[in-house]
Amino acid sequence: MRKLLFVLSIWICLVIISPSFAYAIKIVVDAGHGGSDPGAIGINGLSEKNVTLDIALKLKTELINRGYEVVLSREDDHYISLKDRIDYTNQQNADLFLSIHGNSYPNSQAKGTLVLYYDNQHPQNSYPASEQMTKLTPLSKLFAQQVLDSFINKLHTENQDIVPSSVYVVRKGTIPSILIETAFLSNAEDAALLADSDTRTKMAEAIADGIVAFRPAEFSDVYGHWAQAAILRLKEQGIVTGNNHLYYPEHSLSRAELLTLLNRIHPFAEVAEGTIITPFTDLSPQHWAYPTLAKALAAGYISGYEGGTLKPDQAISRAEAAVLFNRFVEEPQTKSSDNLNSGFLDVPEDAWYAPAANHLKNLGILQGKTPTLFEPSQTITRAEIAALLDRWTAKTR
Ligand SMILES: [Zn+2]
Repeated sequence: MRKLLFVLSIWICLVIISPSFAYAIKIVVDAGHGGSDPGAIGINGLSEKNVTLDIALKLKTELINRGYEVVLSREDDHYISLKDRIDYTNQQNADLFLSIHGNSYPNSQAKGTLVLYYDNQHPQNSYPASEQMTKLTPLSKLFAQQVLDSFINKLHTENQDIVPSSVYVVRKGTIPSILIETAFLSNAEDAALLADSDTRTKMAEAIADGIVAFRPAEFSDVYGHWAQAAILRLKEQGIVTGNNHLYYPEHSLSRAELLTLLNRIHPFAEVAEGTIITPFTDLSPQHWAYPTLAKALAAGYISGYEGGTLKPDQAISRAEAAVLFNRFVEEPQTKSSDNLNSGFLDVPEDAWYAPAANHLKNLGILQGKTPTLFEPSQTITRAEIAALLDRWTAKTR
């Protein structure tokens, strides 16, 4: 994942100079139903499972022609459970998931196209989403809208909109996921469209166009967030980067990630030749942040734990972040222990993090969760760290 983060940050840089940028590289296409599960049976006798497979195969061709990598959850007529479809998808390291279906309704007048996605604003308690999917709503929603718009433009089917949904395949994955109900098999006009091979080709083209058009705005998950201004200022300065184009303000960050940010603000001294870096059982020279960690160790910003570990990927607590950041900002001549009490009721005078918390609070860089509570053992969020770094860079600008 962190390697991915690194690759993505390079990728985002390339993207800025590349006009042909598309969000996704690899796409999972899922043909609904199959085998013993025919899906809906059309008013004209069509089986949904055959229609979805044909569109999926055509979509694969369309996407490959546009330069994408494509995998299908099924390429022939056999049964796969919903869970197997998502387990398969989660192993693909893909960027997008799209499931193809035909719709059916008791009232044969119902027709048109709709696209389902998981929306965290409309959760259903008995159908919980994966942790990752709860964070992906902005992307899934935009993906759904883009594919729907493209489909309606080309096919002129009735626009039944994008629909928040808790169906399994859109809520259990780990990447932006949608399910398109292409048209109603229960409606004569729509069923005739689905029965026509050329129209199914057009449907595949339209979905592929929607995938190409899907280009989420970077950091769209920070709009309206209390730390938006700080995060965007740091982004502007190249200090913070995102993942999948988003910042994930409420996620924690690891020790290695915090050190990477500090190193971007004020690069650590290069490690002198011949310096021996203490070996740690959990730090390989292949770790994505090894060069930064080696410099941070040499400079004394971090040290290991008992038992010879460094825990570079461990989520950092507010107390640890304060101590680490305090080492980073502290002038050699200042003694943070001289600082007055910070007013935090949950920072005992003799706590190992008290000098750092008090010093940073008095500098106006660190804030509590409330005016009187520091909450030392909670993990610090990416939003909180951005606010802290932004206050610091404002001071030193
Ligand atoms: Zn279906």
